Amino acid sequence: MPLCKTEAIILRSRKQGETSKLLSVYTPDFGRLSIMAKGARGIKSHYGGVLEPLNHIAMVIYKKEGREIQYLSQADLFHGFPDIHSQLGKMALVAIACEIVERHEITGHSNPALFRLLLRFLLVTEASSQGLRNILRAFQLQYIELAGFKPEFRRCQQCGQDKSDEDVHFDFSNGGYRCHSCLGGNSIAANLSSAALKYLMFLSQAPLEKSAAHSPRAALGRELDWFILNYLRYHIENLNELHTLAYLQQLQENLQKLN
Ligand SMILES: [Zn+2]
Repeated sequence: MPLCKTEAIILRSRKQGETSKLLSVYTPDFGRLSIMAKGARGIKSHYGGVLEPLNHIAMVIYKKEGREIQYLSQADLFHGFPDIHSQLGKMALVAIACEIVERHEITGHSNPALFRLLLRFLLVTEASSQGLRNILRAFQLQYIELAGFKPEFRRCQQCGQDKSDEDVHFDFSNGGYRCHSCLGGNSIAANLSSAALKYLMFLSQAPLEKSAAHSPRAALGRELDWFILNYLRYHIENLNELHTLAYLQQLQENLQKLN
């Protein structure tokens, strides 16, 4: 059985049997993987704290094609995230990002850019003391783009003009907006304010560190979260599962007091 070396971010960890752990990890080379770490919970385990959730690790696995669960041979820590673990608010934001990646990403489907975005998201959240919700919003928007559903915020789909100074009508199904003069009579498009449109454009392009330097006012924040959640829900099949969506909404509501 071939030994493979790769990096990984641990999305979730579950107890397995008496002494083992079953990990859900995200890797740049193989996408999401389920990894069995035998003996990881034993007293003499040589993994120490390396296999805690969120950790960015180097790992060697026994990888067999077509097998649902791969086996861990060796793991070393690159980055732990102590500040995220010690702050409930940060932890809740990170849980949303990990949930999206875990639900959506297909096993065996490599997307190195997405791995780098997730790692960047963890590093910036760990290091930031403000603008935390904006870091998540920027992550979500950039994730949507990497997943292949880039929304078009720059111009009206009908007349092709930049109408970001007006309130517009966004159509989730085709990922773009129509300005007021181009709106057809029977559209199911949702209203999107000019302020939200401009802000979404900023977040979808900004390096995550930069998004942390800003915090929108509460009403605008709610509009952004509403838009992002519905866009994700529309395009990412598994997020339509009621459980996940309710979970995400509940997490988002719990975060209203964070900036
Ligand atoms: Zn137009």
